[in-house]
Amino acid sequence: MNRFIFCVSILFLISSCSTVPVTDPAVMANSKPLVTFVFDDGYETDYTVAKDIFSARGEAASTAVVTGWVNTKDYLSVSQLAGLQEAGWEIMGHTVSHPNLRDLSENQLESELSQSKAALEGWGLHVRNMVYPYNKSNETVRRITAKYYRAGRAGQKMLNSTGSDPYDLKSSSCELSFWHKMSDIKSRIDRAYAEKKWLVLYQHLIDAKIRISDKSGAFVPGEGLSFMPSGAAGKYIEDGWWSIQFVPLSGTPQPGDTVTGLSSGASGKLWEVYYNEREALIEMIEYVHKNYPDMQIVTIDKGLDLLEIR
Ligand SMILES: [Zn+2]
Repeated sequence: MNRFIFCVSILFLISSCSTVPVTDPAVMANSKPLVTFVFDDGYETDYTVAKDIFSARGEAASTAVVTGWVNTKDYLSVSQLAGLQEAGWEIMGHTVSHPNLRDLSENQLESELSQSKAALEGWGLHVRNMVYPYNKSNETVRRITAKYYRAGRAGQKMLNSTGSDPYDLKSSSCELSFWHKMSDIKSRIDRAYAEKKWLVLYQHLIDAKIRISDKSGAFVPGEGLSFMPSGAAGKYIEDGWWSIQFVPLSGTPQPGDTVTGLSSGASGKLWEVYYNEREALIEMIEYVHKNYPDMQIVTIDKGLDLLEIR
């Protein structure tokens, strides 16, 4: 062989070898950074707090509904569920009575998983995926889930990607507490973006906790709260140790505000905001929008489509 042609051939071979991908090309092509917000248990705050937050930012979330709790105090009504679906939210199954599915017989599993789906569909809702109560499943649970649902979500604080088991989707809590800070959640988002993976975040009731001083009177569960001068509004839940817990309905309660119960007339001075999950949700969505405009916020069903998880 001509020495020149030989050298060119070798160079060509080397250059083509260097472009061979290190992983399966199908997997690489499907890698995209995604984030999903799931609200577990079907609390009314999905509708009264989260719906507008997501809609105002052109986004939607997923709600995982315990059908036995629908239309009861503090939980979503059927018409609120329809309103969420209308706003682009995904309605997910979360059983009829919220048992640990690992403790059930196959017959009980069949009824929890099929009847909850049938109830939601009977109310005119579309349901394709579910969340395991307490994030707990096992092989039997996953096998029976597969008869009725496209996917099941567990916990385990990991990320998902093409090739993930649809009946063992991973998720992390984005609930705030004294120990679980916004910076932890943001670093999970950073990591999902850097690794081009799918982060599923979940939480339950959307609430806020504040420290108050100079309290007088007793607040009544369920009553409206007004915060002045900030103009924020809330719904009282319960007292804690020098604190009150409430649903943050609108505005941003500020230190220095006077909190007043609209029916009890009880009042107090807002000393410190321990956490406010309404504000936190806004911060999380805006963090994604501002830092990672190409990271889509999707429902579980849409995430499964985009990553071709099956
Ligand atoms: Zn639950």
